[in-house]
Order: sequence, then C-alpha cells, then structure tokens
Amino acid sequence: MNDIPLFGGIEAGGTKIVCASGTGPEDMNRAQFPSGSAPDAALAPVIRWLRCEEERRGRFRALGIGSFGPVGLDPHSPSYGRITTTPKEGWRNADILGTFRRAFPGIPIGFDTDVNAAAMGEHRWGAGRSLGDFVYITMGTGIGAGVMAGGKLLHGLVHPEAGHLRIPRLPGDAFPGICPFHGDCWEGLCSGPAILKRTGIPAEDLPGNHEAWPLTARYTAIALADLVCALSPRRIILGGSVPRAGLLGRDRFLAMVRNGVREALGGYISVPELSGDLSGYIIPPLLEENAGICGALALAETAWEEGRHPTDSRNDVSSR
Ligand code: ZN
Repeated sequence: MNDIPLFGGIEAGGTKIVCASGTGPEDMNRAQFPSGSAPDAALAPVIRWLRCEEERRGRFRALGIGSFGPVGLDPHSPSYGRITTTPKEGWRNADILGTFRRAFPGIPIGFDTDVNAAAMGEHRWGAGRSLGDFVYITMGTGIGAGVMAGGKLLHGLVHPEAGHLRIPRLPGDAFPGICPFHGDCWEGLCSGPAILKRTGIPAEDLPGNHEAWPLTARYTAIALADLVCALSPRRIILGGSVPRAGLLGRDRFLAMVRNGVREALGGYISVPELSGDLSGYIIPPLLEENAGICGALALAETAWEEGRHPTDSRNDVSSR
C-alpha cells in the first residue's frame, strides 16, 4: 500500500480536456482528449484513462476539477458543479461534477473554474508561491482571472469575471469587439479570437510591428490597472497564448503592458512594487501551460485535506 496520497486532476477547457494522475508537477502523468460537442462522449475517455491510472498506480484519495465556465460554485445551488450559460454547443447545464461523482463514488472532489485552478497551481508550486494575494490571468480563447485573496480563492456571488471588464476605447479605434454580451469588453477586444477578427491574422502569426500589438497591450494595461486598484494584488501572473505574442514575443509584449499599467496608475499608488519597470510585478506563469492541470491536483489535495479536517468556513477554498 502506497502511503503517498495519489490524486486525479481534470482541466476541462473549451477545446480540450486535460487529465492527470499524481501529486504535483514533479510527479504527474497526463493525457488530453478533445472536448467536442457532447459532454458525455467527451468525458467517457477521461474517466477510462483515470481508471487505468488507478489500476496502475493505486486508488485516488480525491479528484480536482477546474472547468471552463461560467460554472455553478455555490454548493447549496442546484447548478453546483455544472457549466451554466456557456455558448459552447452541447455544454449548457452540463453536469461535470455529477459525472465524476458517479464514476468515482466515495472520494472528495474539489471543483472550481479553470482560471481559479490555474491560480491554485501557481500558488502551490509556481509564480504565486508564498503569496496570499495575487491575480492569475489567462488571455487566450477568452480572458479569465483567478483571484487569490488572503490565501483563499475569491468566489463571492459567483466568481470573478474580470475578462468582461469594460475598457475605455482609444481614440480612432472603431473595432466593435466580439463579446456577444458586451461587444468591446476586455475579452471582446483582446482575446485571441478578437485579435483574429480585428486583423484577419491569428495572434501567433501577427507581425511584431502590427499596430494591434500596442493596442492590445494598452487595453490590457488599463484592465490590469483597474484590477490593481480594485483588488490590491501583490503580483499579477499573466498567462495564456495572447501574451506569448507570436512574432512580437512575450518579453516585448509584457514590457508594453507594464509601461501601460504604470501610465494608467499615474503614480498614485506609491509602493516599491509598483515603481521601476514592474518586471517583478507583472510576470508570466512559472508552470506555463501546466498551471491549470497542476491546480486541479491542488484542488484535489485541498478537498482531501478538508475531508480529514472539516471546517465550516463557507468561503474557504477547501469547502468548494
Ligand atoms: Zn464581455
């Protein structure tokens, strides 16, 4: 009998589902499957793979799931563990948590958004280690933020939806944006599909001198400055495919964003972290594309710990 607790993790994304068995980034087997348009058909191979891992490595003590959303996170609501209003075909009201509860009865299952899971991963093993207050942002197919506040993931009424912050438009920019709800919110202006719609070129192939880069960086900087003012994070971790910035390169894109944040804050918040070039304040994720799946393992570990030492704190990350 193996005494080191083994966990299973699931990161459900809009295009693929990543799953893993293990204890953390140094000890992790992973696999991925397309998410397609039928949740049951998409989750079946994930469940089969996880069961094979259990046969090979031993029983999971807990599972952790980070899911694209919006998702229900209130344990007292009938929508808990479900994807709610997604435009993704076939996935509206998909019962993600229930599917895994039925497949793996009797073990605790942690459930949260994909970005909150990624924030957990960076908190446990990455660029947010030892920080109780930071924001993890992913900019890719959509834009999402996971918020760690006082060492706990922030949920509140639902969960933060910082990708839909409204951004003041720069003069001369007539692009209407692509968000079906708001048009030109941050995600509507700066997600990967928004850049493609604006320029006709996917972000990864967009020339380094294209005017869409400084525009995207400027809008992103305004959103980040708003998050600094609203949440007072000690660090901002900026992940996803857009900040990798294709032919421009991540270093140059991040330098533009940092400049823009400093400009947007106007020197108002006077702390050492926000002076200088902000290169220690706005940083890329340490776990890179593994942040989400590592975070799912961390959610599992937390759910397992919670099962052994229950608390009644409703807002505790471990009660989720
Ligand atoms: Zn929006």
